[in-house]
Amino acid sequence: MQNLIKKLAKAYPELEIKAGDRFQFTPPNQLFYATDTEYSDAEAQLLLLHELGHYLIGETDYHTDIELLEIEAKAWAKAKDLCKKYGLEYNEDFAEDRLDSYRNYFHFTSLCKNCQLAGYQDDRGNYHCPLCNSTWKHEKIPH
Ligand SMILES: [Zn+2]
Ligand SMILES: [Zn+2]
Repeated sequence: MQNLIKKLAKAYPELEIKAGDRFQFTPPNQLFYATDTEYSDAEAQLLLLHELGHYLIGETDYHTDIELLEIEAKAWAKAKDLCKKYGLEYNEDFAEDRLDSYRNYFHFTSLCKNCQLAGYQDDRGNYHCPLCNSTWKHEKIPH
């Protein structure tokens, strides 16, 4: 991990790469990595490259769950490219698991609390129930 961080610091001198509570890219130029985690070193390196992927694709704003999933998938695709570049092994299953956890979360939050029907999300991120007209939204989540 430290080796990768050194390489990235050299390749992207404009980035501040710092230890933090979680793996996260904070625009415009802060890249955080967590040290106290259950992840293996290989997984931690992948997560760091995923966050670097967020920086490189440059899209951080989203309104709907679908938009976030697209951004996530793109950042993982970038991480895959970066793995090749840095001679690391990409772990497809690990990336898919991460994407699945978003899908599950979104499925859960798309259900109306009143009648359990699947709501639809407008382009501002608000959910609407087609049956009882309830509206709700869920918290933006770190990605
Ligand atoms: Zn409802
Ligand atoms: Zn992400």
